[in-house]
Amino acid sequence: MKSYRKELWFQTPTRRAFINMTPQVEECLHESGVREGLVLCNAMHITASVFINDDEHGLHLDYEVWLEKLAPHEPVTQYRHNVGEDNADAHMKRQIMGREVVVAVTEGKLDLGTWERIFYGEFDGRRRKRVLVKIIGE
Ligand code: ZN
Repeated sequence: MKSYRKELWFQTPTRRAFINMTPQVEECLHESGVREGLVLCNAMHITASVFINDDEHGLHLDYEVWLEKLAPHEPVTQYRHNVGEDNADAHMKRQIMGREVVVAVTEGKLDLGTWERIFYGEFDGRRRKRVLVKIIGE
């Protein structure tokens, strides 16, 4: 069995952002040489997510509005997380959008649904963060 590991780095200029990271994962898969197996991608930070959905700008704005309703950033004084820190909302947004995805690899390709793309979700950006890509298979 082959095993591959890589850390991808992301830094967004804004506090929140969604980045289609499918091309980077495809590159990892190519590097791994795995033809049949599984890819795991997980955010290595508790204020960022990896999730699968549509690469559609309107939907991403809808997520932004929905997440702000669930866990508004302001006022930061409403939260008790490490009093003085301002990212409690980011922890909650991460929780709802998820930590990781697992994608099947078939005939050397990511076996995604038609509109499925892999995203990095940032909720407390403006600093460097990592995503782990682990690929196992034959
Ligand atoms: Zn925190």
